[in-house]
Amino acid sequence: MNPATSPLIDRFGRRHNNLRISVTDRCNIRCVYCMPENPEFMARHQLLQFEEIERFVRIVVPMGIDKIRLTGGEPLVRRGLPDLVGRLAGIPGIRDIGLTTNGILLAPLARPLWDAGLRRINVSLDTLDPGRFLELTRRTGVDQVIEGIMAAKSAGFEPVKVNAVAIKGTSEPDIVPLARLARENGLELRFIEYMPLDGGTWERGKVLLAEEILEILTREFGALIPVADPDHRAPAADFDFADGGGRIGLIASVSRPFCMSCNRIRLTSDGRLRNCLFALDETDLRTLLRGGADDAEIARAVRDSVAAKWEGHEINSSRFIQPGRLMHSIGG
Ligand code: SAM
Ligand code: SF4
Repeated sequence: MNPATSPLIDRFGRRHNNLRISVTDRCNIRCVYCMPENPEFMARHQLLQFEEIERFVRIVVPMGIDKIRLTGGEPLVRRGLPDLVGRLAGIPGIRDIGLTTNGILLAPLARPLWDAGLRRINVSLDTLDPGRFLELTRRTGVDQVIEGIMAAKSAGFEPVKVNAVAIKGTSEPDIVPLARLARENGLELRFIEYMPLDGGTWERGKVLLAEEILEILTREFGALIPVADPDHRAPAADFDFADGGGRIGLIASVSRPFCMSCNRIRLTSDGRLRNCLFALDETDLRTLLRGGADDAEIARAVRDSVAAKWEGHEINSSRFIQPGRLMHSIGG
């Protein structure tokens, strides 16, 4: 077995082909479930440079990584992002590059990103109501997000996916309006259960469960039809509206964890490798990348991290410990 080219399979038989790269921990809004009002951001020299990210990806592709998602913080606040997309799209073996964004800066960037080779886009939007947008993000900008979604459609992204975090006692009035927006504009809407990555305000009682969301949708639109899953490792359970008016995804990260089909590893913007969103340990790749380590040494560090991956995140057990890093600094 050549450690630099054999697949990244962990102790539980999970094969990892999916790398999420956070390009910054900064953001132009302040979602309450993701970061505090005044977070301490990393200094710029701590962030991996595009050359370093590209080198890392070239090292992990022979180990089976073929799918990348760029995230953050807000990835579009990182200057020159289309340049990074172009570099990654040019790496033989990468077959899929996606981006998750809050959409605020998307309108002018949708076309340059498409031209650079980006083909999948997820825009996060929890509400269409400006007052609730302000409450949830502590900033304004819902119109810019909608403009960004429409610009992404015009640029060629198909489908544009919209992600909404679902919080009990907050999100209920937003579910139907978001579903209408999706139905009217051919968007794929996915609701994500609220996860404990916010530094301690999360409580189980604040999770609006996937089944409760489904109930709200069913009351308004009639029964939804479960879609047979072509990719058993995809986290969303999909449902079609019976009238053919589109598709909704439910990501039940808390109530029905999909850890046993997890195929992801994560690179933080400061070059730490995390084998789980909820990992308590990280591997410091930046020191290796900047300290003269050769490719084999970096490949070995990745392999060791995957080998140490635990079975699941344990949110539903008393053993669960919330990681010290918040969502914006991990890269969701
Ligand atoms: N800024 C970009 C955005 O908001 O799309 C990318 C980074 S953000 C951390 C990635 C995704 O994580 C977003 O869809 C966001 O709504 C989601 N997210 C953030 N905190 C979360 C939490 N505590 N539980 C569930 N999802 C969360
Ligand atoms: Fe920013 Fe995304 Fe976190 Fe909201 S969820 S604060 S947009 S990084």
